[in-house]
Amino acid sequence: MKNADLMGSVASRRIKTLMRMAEERILEKKPAAKKLAQRYVKLALKISEHYKSNVPGDLKHRICKKCGNFLVPGINCTVRLVSSHGYAVYVCECGNEEHVFYKKRR
Ligand SMILES: [Zn+2]
Repeated sequence: MKNADLMGSVASRRIKTLMRMAEERILEKKPAAKKLAQRYVKLALKISEHYKSNVPGDLKHRICKKCGNFLVPGINCTVRLVSSHGYAVYVCECGNEEHVFYKKRR
């Protein structure tokens, strides 16, 4: 294994750990814990940027691009399906919308 591969795997493991920790903080439903979750997300994005390691697809859609919240449906975001166009809309509590396609676009 090359050194770059090793760094990439360590970086992706750290990103996943930080995201898991962010979700745990959001589930605590406390204002201080929410700030901590935003910090974890920020750190994960910094690690991803520095090591050029992508945030996994399933986790990438769970970050608000405006405020950096980790989106947990029912706690800090609502999910609405737009079946005619084949996408889900994640609306963050800051008002930002994230569209996640579940149907292949033609
Ligand atoms: Zn937001």
